[in-house]
Amino acid sequence: MAPNLGCVRIDDVRRIDLGTFVRPAEETGTGQPRIEAVYAYVVRTAAGVLLMDTGLGVVDEETEAWYRPRRVPIEDALASVGLELTDVALVVNCHLHFDHIGANPRFTGRPLFCQRRELDTARTADYTVPELVDFADASYELIDGEAEIAAGVYVVPTPGHVDGHQSVVVTCDDGSVVLAGQAYDSASQWSADALAARALDLGLAPPLPQPSPWMARLLEFDPRRVVFAHDAAVWTP
Ligand SMILES: [Zn+2]
Repeated sequence: MAPNLGCVRIDDVRRIDLGTFVRPAEETGTGQPRIEAVYAYVVRTAAGVLLMDTGLGVVDEETEAWYRPRRVPIEDALASVGLELTDVALVVNCHLHFDHIGANPRFTGRPLFCQRRELDTARTADYTVPELVDFADASYELIDGEAEIAAGVYVVPTPGHVDGHQSVVVTCDDGSVVLAGQAYDSASQWSADALAARALDLGLAPPLPQPSPWMARLLEFDPRRVVFAHDAAVWTP
């Protein structure tokens, strides 16, 4: 059984709003553009305040025009939950696309947790904003697979959106919370996959959908809440 944090509860995992971007019709498959929210999460851990993702980076003019980002400064977002930049002790990025790492350079001297595979990918051409990846005094803590990064706080690889994607599980006094990041764009996609992973337990017979290979691992934590980088909806069992 995973150790818990002593006095952190599910409600202590807080969402902060870092803005929006507009996904153009060419990318939505619906014939219409879609406004996407950009959320980050903060929670106190035994190793200090953890911040999952840091918002929309400044991009080149072409990308700026394509996605029309509206940014909330990280200071303002943290202030909304009574925190300052200096309160953050560790940063986890679900992956290194520009909409998840915008304020990473503000957290020098703090460990930035990411999958080694993701950092390697981020250093290839046309993946993200290089200045937001390799900046002065960036201190990456590279992970290969799953790791407990603070007591009761686990990073779990959740490849799909990108190969190096990862999610965070926080075990609280009253249950665990999964910070899914962009493992799925929406809570309803998670719902479907969670059912797929349980299909045999439910006594269902083939043909059945194939769940993500990591879903069973996340369900072992018996999450009471799953939250997302781009969806305000929350999954509960
Ligand atoms: Zn994203």
